[in-house]
Amino acid sequence: MTGTVDPRKWCEGRVIELYTWADRLYSLRVEAEIEPFEAGQFGRLGLVIDGEFVGRPYSFVNAPDEKPLDFYFIEIPEGRLTPRLADLAPGDKVWVARKGAGLFTLSQVPEGRDLWLLATGTALGPFISMLKTSMPWERFERIVLVHGVRTRVELAYRETLQTFRRQYPDRFVSLACVTREASPGTLRARITSAIENGTLESEAGLSLCPEDSQVMICGNPSMVKETVELLTSRGFEENRRKQPGQITIERYW
Ligand SMILES: Cc1cc2nc3c(=O)[nH]c(=O)nc-3n(C[C@H](O)[C@H](O)[C@H](O)COP(=O)(O)OP(=O)(O)OC[C@H]3O[C@@H](n4cnc5c(N)ncnc54)[C@H](O)[C@@H]3O)c2cc1C
Repeated sequence: MTGTVDPRKWCEGRVIELYTWADRLYSLRVEAEIEPFEAGQFGRLGLVIDGEFVGRPYSFVNAPDEKPLDFYFIEIPEGRLTPRLADLAPGDKVWVARKGAGLFTLSQVPEGRDLWLLATGTALGPFISMLKTSMPWERFERIVLVHGVRTRVELAYRETLQTFRRQYPDRFVSLACVTREASPGTLRARITSAIENGTLESEAGLSLCPEDSQVMICGNPSMVKETVELLTSRGFEENRRKQPGQITIERYW
């Protein structure tokens, strides 16, 4: 590789697998010696493209103690980095930031009875990482994961979610909101509409209320914004360092 890469911040990783879930949707599995991180945090991937180093944040999907590193990404056809990531093959080199970063972690989330995890698209990743650790199961009675996608083929990591359901049949519910097609076992709705009309609560068998619920929201910025607006109209407050609340967010762009 050529180009300027700061070796104090980046190490060379080796691609183990590029798994294709659907058109433009991939999991990139990489072997790299990085520093310990917390579930929910993001790492960074980088490549030298036309002589210039291009690095972007990607949430870890693997648990902190799991190897290889697992990143779930969507290829943006006109994007700078992702078309190149989608071209990688086992054995190829990719730069990986030595340190994970970010505050979208359970240690930033105040106490609550139930935990609601709302994701669109590839933002499912950080929640998988968290659910693979013991912390959410030790701290919350019930956990509801909601994955919003356009079409059914985008429902990645279903088997992993199934293992959580098997392990915690009375404590874990995972719901899929598919907007562009009707599909058995999924809700045909946007996450916001399913909250607004009460479907999410009835499907989860649980009420979404500031007294009992902590909500983490990750992904598409307009979904994050609309969901925060909806929840604040119901008395929820954003969780800030100086003023704890019930909504913790991460935007992907
Ligand atoms: C904290 C954080 C964590 C992130 N984790 C992930 C992750 O786990 N998986 C992932 O796929 N992306 C993730 N992203 C987005 C990622 O960093 C890049 O922005 C994205 O991969 C596009 O890079 P690019 O160079 O190909 O496109 P660029 O040339 O940088 O174009 C960026 C544009 O692509 C679009 N875009 C960016 N991300 C997405 C997305 N996930 N879905 C749909 N459209 C998008 C937006 O319109 C954005 O303006 C994360 C971003 C942040 C800030």
